[in-house]
Amino acid sequence: MFVSRLLFVCFLGLLATHRICAETTTAAKVSEKNKPSAPAEPRITFSSVHVDGPYIATTFDDGPSATLTPKLLDLLAAHHIKATFFVIGENVAEHPEIVERAAHEGHEIGNHSWSHPNFAKMSDEGVRRELRRTDDAIKSAIGARPTLLRPPYGSLTARQKRWIHDEFGYQIILWDVDPLDWKRPGPAVVCNRILKETRAGSIVLSHDIHPGTIEAMPQTFDQLEAKGFKFVTVSELIRMARPEPAKERAKVPATAATPQPASTNSLPSPSG
Ligand SMILES: [Zn+2]
Repeated sequence: MFVSRLLFVCFLGLLATHRICAETTTAAKVSEKNKPSAPAEPRITFSSVHVDGPYIATTFDDGPSATLTPKLLDLLAAHHIKATFFVIGENVAEHPEIVERAAHEGHEIGNHSWSHPNFAKMSDEGVRRELRRTDDAIKSAIGARPTLLRPPYGSLTARQKRWIHDEFGYQIILWDVDPLDWKRPGPAVVCNRILKETRAGSIVLSHDIHPGTIEAMPQTFDQLEAKGFKFVTVSELIRMARPEPAKERAKVPATAATPQPASTNSLPSPSG
């Protein structure tokens, strides 16, 4: 009797051990799944991108300008640099040939509204009109619709981001490097600010409607290239995105580590 009881207890013990092992394995699988390589929802908004190489995206807003944008395109071509232009619909309607040239030379064209209003203060219908008109103007200039939006001043509510993404399919592009070139501080200052702030994965904001910005670019491109940076369009940069390494993880026990978000969506200063 005692022996059979003992066997039964052992059997129970074995069952329990097996169960614990099974649970541990399941937990390991879940934690593997939850690693930041698989974010629950795709990101909509980008102000920079975590990349493995020295890649950056340079972006120019508010054009095209009849005189300055062609100069910039010449310079970009000389450096074999691909940039991204966030264009104003009104300007596209005036100079579709410049936008066509930019697209033809491998640059990306994004929507920056029709007339540069503050979207956060507008009705959905007003925002929709601004976006649709510009989207149409870009389509008629380059034969394709844009997939990126940079809201004027970087100003967009969380609710607007969601419906605009759902309706237009746009990714919302902000920036992490802002030389405040619209204040026209002079080419040297614009150049130095960009050089100081740019990191791998940066999205650099500038405006191709200010002469000082265009004057700053030869030095800026030379020095960024000397630092080893490589220029890609915003969409290319996003395609290179890698999960953000969790810096805190090394400091805490593995069991306590929680997945970190792919990146922060910090709101930049009111340039754009
Ligand atoms: Zn702007």
